Amino acid sequence: MFDQLTKRLADVFTLMGKKGKLSEENIQDGIRQVKLALLEADVNFKVVKSFISRVEKIALGEKVLKSITPAQQFIKIVHDQLVETMGGEGSVDLDFRKSRLNILLCGLQGSGKTTTAAKIALKFKKDFRFLLVSTDVYRPAAIQQLQVLAKEAGVAFFDEALNIRKPLDIVKKAKKYAEKNGYNGIIVDTAGRLEIDSELMKELLQISKVIDFNEVLFVADSTAGQAIAETVQGFHNSVELTGLVITKFDSDTRGGAALSVREVTGKPVKFTGTGEKIEDLELFYPERVASRILGQGDILSLVENAQEHIDEEDVKKLEKKIKKNKFDLEDFRDQIRKIKKMGSLSKIMEMLPGIKGKQANVDDKELIRIEAIINSMTPFERSNTNILNGSRRKRIATGSGTTVFDVNRMVNKFIDMKKMMKKFSKNPKLLENIGNQGIPNIRMPY
Ligand code: GDP
Repeated sequence: MFDQLTKRLADVFTLMGKKGKLSEENIQDGIRQVKLALLEADVNFKVVKSFISRVEKIALGEKVLKSITPAQQFIKIVHDQLVETMGGEGSVDLDFRKSRLNILLCGLQGSGKTTTAAKIALKFKKDFRFLLVSTDVYRPAAIQQLQVLAKEAGVAFFDEALNIRKPLDIVKKAKKYAEKNGYNGIIVDTAGRLEIDSELMKELLQISKVIDFNEVLFVADSTAGQAIAETVQGFHNSVELTGLVITKFDSDTRGGAALSVREVTGKPVKFTGTGEKIEDLELFYPERVASRILGQGDILSLVENAQEHIDEEDVKKLEKKIKKNKFDLEDFRDQIRKIKKMGSLSKIMEMLPGIKGKQANVDDKELIRIEAIINSMTPFERSNTNILNGSRRKRIATGSGTTVFDVNRMVNKFIDMKKMMKKFSKNPKLLENIGNQGIPNIRMPY
């Protein structure tokens, strides 16, 4: 998502940056280019209009024209106004004021409601005891789909739903069951609608009244483009929505709809779905998305994600090992496992600034291959790569289903990486220099 927009805006900024000092005309031209880029990205035209008028007002002020770095100032203005368009700073949290978290999910068929139900439960299961409830009695196997996802997320599922024919009865029974069994979070997934249909809307309204929901979230598929806004409005006419979840943020759609939806509907975006796996749900932070659009990389999301999966103590231990040149293949395998927990490597790479297009295309299968190779070694071999002679390498290749060539390549790259680590740990200034130039070329050690 946003790839094209990011590229277009980067071109505009690069051109402006080359000019040094900017004239009013240069800025006007820049604004025109930004406007075109947004329209091309399918941003709603009214949203573009108000965005551009805000940018104009600030960018043509004295401050920008007289500043020493007008192009950077211009980028900052575009960034800040993008943030504004998407709802301002900070994420919009769920309504946690009550000691329970009841959520109703609605939206069109195939938008990702069922997956999102499991994703939310997984994200907050530390804080709430959830019961997942499906009321989709219309689509064959829809209830079972949630059952499977609930199991994967490790949360309870209301299986009585499988034997009840009416959605309203399911919700009533689920409510009683939750009260009796001490669940303080009920997530209700509703039947998908192909389009706004009055019978199903009535049913949704009735369901929404059975339980005191903290949130009624509309799940919007970002690949649907501008049509989202209209559908949100249609739903909101029937049931009071508290916010949106935008799914398929990982797709390569133009992204304009996701950018416009807040301003057009007045409803805050609370989450984005960033993949098919149940871990792929992120809180929506307008400033991070803006930074991502402007090619600054979503460092904050990455940091947050890393914090969730990486223990500070472990990091310290690792630093010590690197300093003492004791980092071995066992440690390396641990790191690979952590990366795998954080999501796919290519996704992590996409979040890093300075890494674009093809460079982000890291093959996740390589990680699996590397892990398999390391798994086939004995612990002693993992700590002492120098003993890896021909016959050992052959055995490792057979054990891991790879070739001796793969094993050689991995071991050689690992040795190179260790040498580099040694160099950096002796002279941290080298790392600073790399930081100044952005991240030019990250290579995996294979
Ligand atoms: P529902 O009909 O609204 O319940 O939609 P589902 O939850 O069944 O999702 C429809 C399809 O979209 C499934 O194949 C999901 O795996 C996929 N899906 C859901 N959310 C996302 C997402 O954020 N990214 C991607 N790539 N796929 C998603």
